[in-house]
Amino acid sequence: MSITSRLSRRSLFKATALGAGALAAPQILVRSAQAQVAMAAAQPAAFKRFSLGDFEITVLSDGHRVVENPHGIFGMNTTQADVEALLTETYLPVDKMQFTFAPTLVNTGTDLILFDTGNGEGGREGGVGQTLANLQASGYTPDQVTVVVITHMHGDHVNGLMEGGAPAYPNARYVTGQAEYDFWSSEDRVGTPAENGHKNVLAKVAPMAEKMTFLGDGGSVVPGITAMAAFGHTPGHMVYGLESGGRKLMLTADTANHFVLSLQRPDWEVRFDMDKAGAAATRKSVFDMIATDRLAFVGYHMPFPSVGYIEKIGEGYRFIPETYQLDL
Ligand SMILES: [Zn+2]
Repeated sequence: MSITSRLSRRSLFKATALGAGALAAPQILVRSAQAQVAMAAAQPAAFKRFSLGDFEITVLSDGHRVVENPHGIFGMNTTQADVEALLTETYLPVDKMQFTFAPTLVNTGTDLILFDTGNGEGGREGGVGQTLANLQASGYTPDQVTVVVITHMHGDHVNGLMEGGAPAYPNARYVTGQAEYDFWSSEDRVGTPAENGHKNVLAKVAPMAEKMTFLGDGGSVVPGITAMAAFGHTPGHMVYGLESGGRKLMLTADTANHFVLSLQRPDWEVRFDMDKAGAAATRKSVFDMIATDRLAFVGYHMPFPSVGYIEKIGEGYRFIPETYQLDL
């Protein structure tokens, strides 16, 4: 007799219903030691480490956040029904979604380079802002970081630059895109939808300007790490190519903000993309390249640990989470 015929769907759900009924009986609740123990709600330290040639890569979790109404962010140029259909087809809830954030630490043997800094101390009550804690859990200290690279200047990438009114990575120099810094730091943003972002950059980023190097397309952070213009999400958004010992990895930052909605439908407009058509074009050129060259990539908002590959399907791409490929 097969397991499936013995454990039918009906008997499985019947067993569950009996279990729930037994738990609900008050005399059992009182006697249950387990029911008297408070839930340990804390999240585990979360990082993923692998090597890339002579580089050691550590993807750090900044935590996660639940957001309601996916269609309020993704697929602004399509219908709610289209968004719900794709979510349902891919086993995702239609009414809410989870965002994760993945700053990435690269030890080149000479430099310890942090790409983006997470939501910072202001996000901690909401369950994010965990980058510093996870960097330490992974075996490093903030004062060991020699370079901080900022891919673009949205709050979930720059707010971790400061901690308690001082630089969170006190010995670091900084690298970012020239176009990105020029856009956000300009007084021209006052009175526009970018005014809040401008103020945030003045508070969090501008204090580091004298220790900052500004890159354009093709600029180098250190040997083996090269910037690539990927404008659209923001006016100066940059992605980075890493290469060591003949192995390659891309850091795609916010080129795609959701592993299904942005990758399977790259033309669906995203509320966070400042230039919607430009961001869609960038999404397609970056992920076409990653698919064609069969590269591994870290996507800042891909499901943690945010490392994977890309397969071209239909009008877009399928995210293939990395399992053990980078460990072998
Ligand atoms: Zn982001």
